[in-house]
Amino acid sequence: MHKCCPVCGVRFEVEPGFFFGAMYISYAFSVATFIICGLATYLLGNNPEVWVYVMVVIVVVLLTFPSSFRYSRILMLHLFSGIGYEPDAADKEGQT
Ligand SMILES: [Zn+2]
Repeated sequence: MHKCCPVCGVRFEVEPGFFFGAMYISYAFSVATFIICGLATYLLGNNPEVWVYVMVVIVVVLLTFPSSFRYSRILMLHLFSGIGYEPDAADKEGQT
């Protein structure tokens, strides 16, 4: 992840430790993954043994970790950073 926006240069980590909060969002993503994978395994696998559930959840969580990590930070920025998206900001900066 970029430390600053490559276009307008805004610093994403608005205060030290800002992204600790993203861990809670990431945790929520993981819990949602557990529930969805658990239900899918139950329904598709006709209620297999416990180790099958564990393996399915571990594999899916590992596969989705990169996107979960980024989307939790994106959500954190949108919800709590106070930084807004200004489509024209880069153009304005280019003119001055
Ligand atoms: Zn920017």
